[in-house]
Amino acid sequence: MTSQAPPLRVRAVRAFADNYIWLIESPRQPGRVVAVDPGDAAPVLAELRRSGAHLAAILLTHHHPDHIGGVAGLLAQGAVPVVGPDDARIAQRTLTAQDGTRIDWPELGLAFETLAVPGHTVSHVAYVGAGALFCGDTLFSAGCGRMFEGTAAQMSASLDRLRALPPETLMYCGHEYTAANLRFALTVEPANGAALDYQRRVAAWRAVDRPSLPAPLHLEIEVNPFLRCDQPSVRAAAAHHAGRALAAPAEVFAVLRAWKDEFR
Ligand SMILES: [Zn+2]
Repeated sequence: MTSQAPPLRVRAVRAFADNYIWLIESPRQPGRVVAVDPGDAAPVLAELRRSGAHLAAILLTHHHPDHIGGVAGLLAQGAVPVVGPDDARIAQRTLTAQDGTRIDWPELGLAFETLAVPGHTVSHVAYVGAGALFCGDTLFSAGCGRMFEGTAAQMSASLDRLRALPPETLMYCGHEYTAANLRFALTVEPANGAALDYQRRVAAWRAVDRPSLPAPLHLEIEVNPFLRCDQPSVRAAAAHHAGRALAAPAEVFAVLRAWKDEFR
């Protein structure tokens, strides 16, 4: 991967209650941006007006309306390439991103590799480039997406792929869920010092309305129970919750995900 490339400049645009639409600046043509998962056109158009930037392309991770709902409104201002997974529910797609598809925009100085990460939805993809990961609703800081369409085995395999990326990778997720996720993470692992420390930092950021994202993958590997299904502490907590012994990490994952679904 391209871990030696200079870090991307990425801006967070808020949408709805807790969505982030990421605007990736072109390193080669400052003022041109790629929007990731524009669920709503209005805040993106407002940010483009405010900053004088122009939209160069759109990347979509999955078909949910809060991730694609703004595409039509953005295209109404001018046609740009729309990259998304092979899914009939994404009508405006001009380029299909399948597992291994390389998205290369040399004029923008941007290139991404596509990873198929089914689980939240069957066709969900993530984009990796220049040390950044745009993972939509598959992986969140300290948590992961719900399985609306996929199986626990699929989601677990998808998270394994993301966990194998270089540890310095910065994760740009689709939602600000970190504080709530940490409450669950610390229920699973109450003695996880890295998670306790992270919880304090996230509380301070959120108190001044600062996004907790992006999050470095190496931190997630320390605090995110869904990336820690091979750890004895997580396995023991999941086994205790399930009331039975759990062997494979994928089995631990399935119990954790069901536990989180009912966690308040
Ligand atoms: Zn979603």
